[in-house]
Amino acid sequence: MGSSGTCAGVRSQLGVYLTGSILPADRAVVVRHLASCAICRAELSDLSALPGLLRRPASQAAAEGPGQDPPSGYRAAAGSRPAAGSGPALGEVQLSRLLRSIQRRRRRRRWLLAVAAFVLVVVAGAGWALRLTQPPGSGTETMANVLETDRVGGLTVLTDAEGYTLYWFGPDNPTMSACEAGCARAWPPVAAPAVKGAGVTGTLGAIARSDGSLQATYNGHPLYTAAADTEPGQAKGNGVWDGGGQWHEVVAGGG
Ligand SMILES: [Zn+2]
Repeated sequence: MGSSGTCAGVRSQLGVYLTGSILPADRAVVVRHLASCAICRAELSDLSALPGLLRRPASQAAAEGPGQDPPSGYRAAAGSRPAAGSGPALGEVQLSRLLRSIQRRRRRRRWLLAVAAFVLVVVAGAGWALRLTQPPGSGTETMANVLETDRVGGLTVLTDAEGYTLYWFGPDNPTMSACEAGCARAWPPVAAPAVKGAGVTGTLGAIARSDGSLQATYNGHPLYTAAADTEPGQAKGNGVWDGGGQWHEVVAGGG
């Protein structure tokens, strides 16, 4: 695989990239490739519904601790025993846990279940199910961010999954963020991959930040939240000049 990877090579890595289990060197290749390849970003967006659902039971298993009796799929993963040949069984365990997880999640839409179940079958066949049971190698930046909309100050604005208003920064361009370091602490970038929730139209994408992380974009604008917003429904950052430019709330669908 070259320094930026081929589409086929990168796509074979998207599953483990989403789970956070990807090797750092492979992750760098995937990040670079995604920043320049809209087709693979679309593929990633399609896949990204899955790990957010799988992460929940994985976290629960971890929280249960060694004294408990986790399901066989997690026992195998926790013990690091070779699990060759048990891929389909693990897939079934994952699927049943996934289905129960979804039943608890009222906000999840039915089509996500269909997509997730289909992807799960596909990845189990490809041997990814074993990788999915491994503890994530990195933090939550690889989880998909579900973008939503809300009425704030008489306008429909784009929000993150918790309802916090999203912003775009005047000096940015579609391929680069101009907000680093202290700026990015006041205006935390929204990690990619992002997926569209209810009522969200427009084009989602991703750029690679200088630290190698992926940042979600909306209609070519890198997305941020504002640390000044302390609860959903606020837009304290709108119109503010900070970090060398002006900040704007993202108006969904042009208002
Ligand atoms: Zn590609």
